[in-house]
Amino acid sequence: MRILIVDDDVITRRVLETTLSMHGYEPLTAINGQQAWELLQQDFVPLILTDWLMPGMDGIELIRRIRATNFPSYSYIVILTSLSTQSDIVHGLEAGADDFLTKPFHEGELLARLNIARRILDLERNLRETRDQLYHQATHDSLTGLLNRMAIIDRATMELERSRRAHQPFSLALIDIDHFKRVNDTFGHLVGNEALIVVGQIVKGLVRPYDSVGRWGGEEILLVLPDTDSATAIQIAERVRHALSQHIFNLPSGVRLRLTVSVGVSCTNFHQSSYLLLDTLFQHADEALYTAKRSGRDQVALFRAAACPPEMPLKQRAVSAG
Ligand code: GH3
Ligand code: MG
Ligand code: MG
Repeated sequence: MRILIVDDDVITRRVLETTLSMHGYEPLTAINGQQAWELLQQDFVPLILTDWLMPGMDGIELIRRIRATNFPSYSYIVILTSLSTQSDIVHGLEAGADDFLTKPFHEGELLARLNIARRILDLERNLRETRDQLYHQATHDSLTGLLNRMAIIDRATMELERSRRAHQPFSLALIDIDHFKRVNDTFGHLVGNEALIVVGQIVKGLVRPYDSVGRWGGEEILLVLPDTDSATAIQIAERVRHALSQHIFNLPSGVRLRLTVSVGVSCTNFHQSSYLLLDTLFQHADEALYTAKRSGRDQVALFRAAACPPEMPLKQRAVSAG
């Protein structure tokens, strides 16, 4: 385990370095709080053994800064100092240290206390990993690994609001696999599942890093396209449609098949006084998808102003809503 030793005294640093290396630690050193602080910014180390009195930034200031910063994990900090009164100990612990040791240190005690640090840091890492796994499970679809419906709605809500503030266009594309029921009917549900997974992977590989892809429902995938006007949204949707129509699905079960998709696109452009609500955009994408299906499938359709009133000025909206 890596440990950061902070001490202005070269002998102390060497002794600690040697002792800790002999017991399986990988020591890094800093000559005062400032150097330790700079090192932590570049390369975070969760276990820190620091002196108190040092020229420049002392140990207490270093601890305060660490506690006020969001590092990727908890920092376990042990003060090792020649200050040893009870009020020093209280002061050090209250500044945010986890433990306090006095110089000259007893090797066995130092190692035993660092073992406590390792236990706490292991525990914290396990908790963090479990939390991250639970978060992933709660936000991702278990079959395709795409964002699930709730998460893609959250993403769309956030991105729509961001677009509104930035006066940028915003688009949605709703992708539906054509005649997917036939795949299930012909090859069985498990083969259908395999095909859905591959479709998800292909779609994910075709969008831009800042676009989001989620499973909207059964064989429907929703793309959330921030800062995207209708022409660009159509281009993206067309790219996805074309790629899927050209793909020969070689599924793990040995089944080979081809698929096509239809895509419905909706867009809003944030002019000063008009905007569309997310629910309206979902509805528009759905209607455009229906148009694509009705017009023969394997195509992209945009929800057009002809089919919907132009975006309504806010004042008018307020009146009609009232
Ligand atoms: P259309 O071109 O009109 O979209 O025809 P379709 O057959 O794709 O549409 P329909 O809505 O009639 O049927 C959707 C099918 O998708 C039926 C359903 O069993 C299948 N489906 C939905 N979710 C899953 C899934 O998780 N796994 C599998 N294998 N099939 C699914
Ligand atoms: Mg379908
Ligand atoms: Mg469908």
